[in-house]
Amino acid sequence: AAKASGRNCVRLFDPNDPQSSDESENVAALLKIAIDQHLVSLVYQPIRNVASGRVDAVEALMRLRMLDGTAVTPSLFIPVAERTGAILELGRWAIRTVCRELLVNDHVPVVSVNVSPLQLKTPGFAASVAAILGETGVGGGRLALEITEGLEMEMHSDILRCISDLKTLGIKIWLDDFGTGFAGLSWLRLIDFDTVKIDRSFLHDCGTPRGKAMLQDIIGLVRNRGHNILVEGVETDEQLRLMQEFRIDQVQGYYVGRPAPAETFTTPPPSDQRRARLMRPAG
Ligand code: C2E
Ligand code: MG
Ligand code: MG
Ligand code: MG
Repeated sequence: AAKASGRNCVRLFDPNDPQSSDESENVAALLKIAIDQHLVSLVYQPIRNVASGRVDAVEALMRLRMLDGTAVTPSLFIPVAERTGAILELGRWAIRTVCRELLVNDHVPVVSVNVSPLQLKTPGFAASVAAILGETGVGGGRLALEITEGLEMEMHSDILRCISDLKTLGIKIWLDDFGTGFAGLSWLRLIDFDTVKIDRSFLHDCGTPRGKAMLQDIIGLVRNRGHNILVEGVETDEQLRLMQEFRIDQVQGYYVGRPAPAETFTTPPPSDQRRARLMRPAG
């Protein structure tokens, strides 16, 4: 998470640093006013289909600014929002914003939104998503929800029920950061994920024979189970070529595109109507 330590970012949360708890309290206070004060926004990162070369999905990533404009990194404010419960309102806001600012445009493909286990455990979550889809007129098939494979994510029957309700709405369920925790394999057994996102840490050493073999094993495991495979964190042309060689379905990373504001995706190239049509998902 070194990327977070830029000049305009608060430093990373360190639970052993006494100052960090103050910082976390400040962020907790900030989150309470963040929606009303327009301190939260979404940026979108393109996801490229390897076979077609087209952007066939984008991931929404939340951004938070302090009143003076300083950015707060998600690795700090998301855990705080989860702890205080603010993630529930922020999560609904994110899904509504994605529908309003992006999915109302017919040419925009699938948009994925990260969700926290707390949201999935909260009664009425699937119904609140259904209400947002109804209110914005967006088809459920254009929304994907990303669930992060985390250690803390216990096998919770409420979560499984919620996921099945979301799937009934046509919403796609993706597994994020696969390979980083112990829970992933259990989740693969229980949930029929549409897409599995292989964590970017697997790309770090894919230049070495060992690293490459490891990545190949993970890919084989996911592919044998019939999931769509997306590899995150593609940063170089060499890595992209390897993904082509491995017949990965989709890639995401700085080499494909950095997170960018909604406007980047809302205007289709006027000369390229055919491409816009092709990008629209079926159904
Ligand atoms: P994630 O869902 O795995 O998102 C991918 C993260 O990797 C993003 O960081 C993205 O900017 C970064 N990234 C993308 N491509 C590359 C690359 O090529 N190299 C490197 N080094 N990094 C890359 P970001 O935006 O800081 O978000 C961090 C995490 O915060 C996300 O990880 C996600 O778990 C969480 N998050 C972000 N937005 C939301 C949200 O709206 N709701 C929830 N619950 N969590 C969110
Ligand atoms: Mg994600
Ligand atoms: Mg995630
Ligand atoms: Mg991820």
